Amino acid sequence: MSDQVLLDIQNLSVGYLTRRGMAQAVQNVNLQIKKNEIVGIVGESGCGKSTLANAVMRLLPDGAYITEGSIKLEDTDIVTLSGETLRKFRWQEIAMVFQGAMNVLNPVKTVGSQFQHLLMAHNNAMTKAQALERAKELLRLVRIDENRLNSYAHELSGGMRQRIVIAMAIALNPKLVILDEPTTALDVIVQRSILAQIVKLKEEFGFSIMFISHDFNLVAEISNRVAVMYAGRMIELGSSTGKWGEHVHHPYTKGLIRAVPQLRATDTDEVIGIPGSLPSLLSLPEGCKFHPRCSFAKDICKLQSPPIQVIDEIQMECHLSPEELRDLNHARG
Ligand code: SF4
Repeated sequence: MSDQVLLDIQNLSVGYLTRRGMAQAVQNVNLQIKKNEIVGIVGESGCGKSTLANAVMRLLPDGAYITEGSIKLEDTDIVTLSGETLRKFRWQEIAMVFQGAMNVLNPVKTVGSQFQHLLMAHNNAMTKAQALERAKELLRLVRIDENRLNSYAHELSGGMRQRIVIAMAIALNPKLVILDEPTTALDVIVQRSILAQIVKLKEEFGFSIMFISHDFNLVAEISNRVAVMYAGRMIELGSSTGKWGEHVHHPYTKGLIRAVPQLRATDTDEVIGIPGSLPSLLSLPEGCKFHPRCSFAKDICKLQSPPIQVIDEIQMECHLSPEELRDLNHARG
């Protein structure tokens, strides 16, 4: 992994205009992804992680707006791109793999013709035969027989379809690949196999990955750093995943870790959910957005936004002192 920053997100806010006002789905997010780095983004459904990814890809739905901040890929200011420049930029520079491959693949076209369309749309000089050769090469990379170029999506297993979508994502040698819950619909063994394949491709071709998931185990397995989002804010960033469970974490992150069964759990480890649910984006609480659900909230948490502090190289937004956070992580294990 290089120290060079590839993606630089500064103070980014994204809102959805609703009949009841602007819902702030992403608030003042700062994040850098280095070349060849995997950054995982985790949080409950609705925390803003997919909105963040869609903003980077400039694929926000109607009614959603970048209200503040900047997103740069090397020297390119993504927020200001438009028209043909934006169309070329997507997939060539940043590609995205969505959750449901069935929704991405065209059901009435063969896999081969979809590869040809993608490759030729981004390279006017490419012939059909050249596109077909490139498609075969891409299928080999994701360990799928080239005969599958003649198949339709419904003739393939879920795992095969997702591998094909991954092959399409890397077809134009992008610098950054965004994976938005790429394996959620698949069984655990296929998930692991596909993720191992993605990491291998990243090593071979040198792209960076933004990996979005609600599944801590998966994120911890493959990411170099992890960002945790809550109610649109990045409330923790920087965990070195090799020692994920041993680090001091934000109270919300600690709650998320305890809410999913751990791979190396002992008989005495309990799985405990976080009480309550995410607040409405239209009426976020004052102070720390997590305070109504936090067992450690103090009076100040209800009144003032928490400061950013760095503990053991992990950045987190919390009013607790480093000593209090260490005690809480030690006590709650
Ligand atoms: Fe809990 Fe307060 Fe920290 Fe928010 S700032 S996570 S409410 S202790």
